[in-house]
Amino acid sequence: MPHDHLASPVAEVYDLAVVGGGINGVGIAADAAGRGLSVFLCEKDDLASHTSSASSKLIHGGLRYLEHHEFRLVREALAEREVLLAKAPHIVKPMRFVLPHRPHLRPAWMIRAGLFLYDHLGKRERLPASRGLRFAAGSPLKPEITRGFEYSDCWVDDARLVVLNAMAAREKGAHIHPRTRCVSARRSKGLWHIHLEHADGSLFSIRARGLVNAAGPWVAHLLREDLKQPSPYGIRLIQGSHIVVPKLYDGEQAYILQNEDRRIVFAIPYLERFTLIGTTDREYQGDPAKVTITAEETDYLLKVVNDHFRKQLVHDDVLHSFAGVRPLCDDESDEPSAITRDYTLSLAGAPGEAPLLSVFGGKLTTYRKLAESAMKLLQPSFAHMGGSWTANATLPGGEQMQDVPHLSEALCQRFGWLPNSLAQRWATSYGSRVWRLLDGVNNLADLGEHLGAGLYALEVDYLYREEWARSSSDILWRRSKLGLFMSASQQKRLQQYLQQHHASAVAA
Ligand SMILES: Cc1cc2nc3c(=O)[nH]c(=O)nc-3n(C[C@H](O)[C@H](O)[C@H](O)COP(=O)(O)OP(=O)(O)OC[C@H]3O[C@@H](n4cnc5c(N)ncnc54)[C@H](O)[C@@H]3O)c2cc1C
Repeated sequence: MPHDHLASPVAEVYDLAVVGGGINGVGIAADAAGRGLSVFLCEKDDLASHTSSASSKLIHGGLRYLEHHEFRLVREALAEREVLLAKAPHIVKPMRFVLPHRPHLRPAWMIRAGLFLYDHLGKRERLPASRGLRFAAGSPLKPEITRGFEYSDCWVDDARLVVLNAMAAREKGAHIHPRTRCVSARRSKGLWHIHLEHADGSLFSIRARGLVNAAGPWVAHLLREDLKQPSPYGIRLIQGSHIVVPKLYDGEQAYILQNEDRRIVFAIPYLERFTLIGTTDREYQGDPAKVTITAEETDYLLKVVNDHFRKQLVHDDVLHSFAGVRPLCDDESDEPSAITRDYTLSLAGAPGEAPLLSVFGGKLTTYRKLAESAMKLLQPSFAHMGGSWTANATLPGGEQMQDVPHLSEALCQRFGWLPNSLAQRWATSYGSRVWRLLDGVNNLADLGEHLGAGLYALEVDYLYREEWARSSSDILWRRSKLGLFMSASQQKRLQQYLQQHHASAVAA
């Protein structure tokens, strides 16, 4: 398959140009392409490089948002859980959340009322309802925590959700250009003239009838600095960080921990061997690309967990961490955790002028609904645009797939030599696209060089060819999370392998 970013883009007029390859940009690109619009998307780094790979990875209604009366957001988000489960059963899975009861923080009646709303506000067919719990002697929680509650939400591989939407967009005809920065754009004669820069410094331009600014934390910067337009809303950058520690407890359930400051922190089972703990909320002023966890945030997360679990964690238990900034629409809340998580779309452009749509805020969970709302706003400028279609369409790999256990079993049956752990990881990552990955493969040797942690050359080539992966970090931290399992020398060898592979792909 030719690579969009290797071929020189045709200086044609697209219907829509989208700036930003996070979840909101790719979601809008896929939706628009599926409605028959010609779409161009640029992302200055790798797909999902920023906020969209640094989330808590939950597809959730957001129980705590009920306290802030965000009923619209919660209703929409709750309903999206089952929609996304059906769209991508390989990367989205149901999860039970255990809420230890701490009566001095929130009384039981309040939690019961919240959970009642949570169970009934949005459509729920597959996910079980909430219930009260009594913790037995074997509970991983401290013995004084004897009661709690349990409810359902879902978990998602956030970065893969982005890549699958980008693939869906490409399959509907969109041109997806990672490592391509929008440096400026101006309106002229009813079109946007958009100037772009590849990672190697080469420049090119395209034109488009409409422009979408889905630059996430850079949304206001893009407007003011690159488009020379006023920003209709202020944006608050709120840092959130996570730590990864060795598995803290057995079982598939996550915990939602109430802290003394009334914030909540999740402890989530992560990649079989680990627990993911997060998140924090702190105002952030610097370059969004440079955000890293602070020592205070690590202390904060460790303390919340140590206040709840029998097992006590120390700094040395932190194996990995990541941080991101939420690009939230400024509603002038005093507390970072109280700022609305809902999204706001702004449409600019007088009648007859090329429209500019900017995305402020939003959740991973509501990306599909956000894209539908964006299309509704753009509809008057594109009379030929088709109707909404994404609610019932699977994402790549979700086609003809029952669930991950069935798929990995089918793989093991068909490829008797395939290690079980690999079959499981591939079924989870690629869903039914795994059959394409394994097309023509007959034995372990056909997988090519083993680059470490179950990553073979065959998979790297597939990720290069099908999923725009170019660097070792694209593969180790976004297309997969194998970075947690690979040594420094293995990572170096992977980078070398990719460079050689790229050189021969360009030469061919
Ligand atoms: C700590 C944390 C936890 C979260 N947890 C959850 C959760 O559990 N569930 C949930 O639903 N949501 C969660 N969220 C929210 C969710 O992650 C974000 O709402 C979402 O990822 C935002 O996506 P985006 O596309 O707007 O931004 P991004 O993912 O940041 O994408 C914007 C992209 O635009 C690109 N860009 C910027 N300027 C340019 C330019 N000039 N040219 C080309 N490209 C450009 C950037 O490189 C970037 O990749 C969390 C967020 C954080 C920070």
